[in-house]
Amino acid sequence: MLLKNLFILIPFFLYGYQNSITNYKAINKCVEFNAKEHIAIRSFKFNKKKVFLIVDTQSLKTGIILQNSAIENSCTAQIANSRYIRLLKEIKSQPNKLENSGITSIKSGVLLTTDLCPSHKKGFEARLYKALIKYFPNPVPVTVFITKRWINKHKKAFLQLKRWNKEKKLSITWGNHTALHRYLPKRDLKHNFVLLKNEHFIKDVLDLETALLQNGALPSVFFRFPGLVSDKKRVLQVCSLGLITIGTNAWLAKGEKIKEGSIILLHGNKNEPKGVDIFLRLLRSGKKLKINAF
Ligand SMILES: [Zn+2]
Repeated sequence: MLLKNLFILIPFFLYGYQNSITNYKAINKCVEFNAKEHIAIRSFKFNKKKVFLIVDTQSLKTGIILQNSAIENSCTAQIANSRYIRLLKEIKSQPNKLENSGITSIKSGVLLTTDLCPSHKKGFEARLYKALIKYFPNPVPVTVFITKRWINKHKKAFLQLKRWNKEKKLSITWGNHTALHRYLPKRDLKHNFVLLKNEHFIKDVLDLETALLQNGALPSVFFRFPGLVSDKKRVLQVCSLGLITIGTNAWLAKGEKIKEGSIILLHGNKNEPKGVDIFLRLLRSGKKLKINAF
């Protein structure tokens, strides 16, 4: 909860208001704010004010602070041994994998993730989010891996998600699923998604963050590869941007089962109703789940 008092941006959550985001840059600096050390991962102008996007290295929560309220310093051993840096190191040391790289389970309970890849479907899986609100103590933690193409085509649905978040029915962590989420049907995975030729990968990642900020949502440190497809180079690029790659061990539509520590993958964009059907059936059958934040 620590970063709560970091939010200094007043017009941030006003509906229909487009924030101006300029000079958006990835950085990696230790900064002291409120007598506590954080890592600043982005520097930009937010409605003309110079700000940092910072990470609390234990809770992994992000916040936006005015640059002139932070003191830049050299990183202490405490930061080097923090949960955030340890996770980044763990991901960097993993062997090369074409699919499902990154963190695939959590310590206790389950992590619920819903992907909003680009979709031509109208609306979204409102039934899924409504069921979460109904069956679990509010606000329900849910990580939403979102794309800019989905936001642009589903303004109303995005607004509804933000509303549930504001009303504290859901506690949404906005995860990065790239702006464009490029994909060619019938192309093998080794040459698809972020491994496509002419993929401007870093731009694609940062563009999603600026789209969130423009639309009044706060980017988190969590990232999911489109199609869960990557190679070592892409994984290291994500780490260099200060983002933590999240995979899954419970993609319900693919028949994987929920266990203690599962990272559950569902699609909130109506592209994979089968997974949502399975999940809702479990809830109706009285299955007890402890949904945690990361
Ligand atoms: Zn996707």
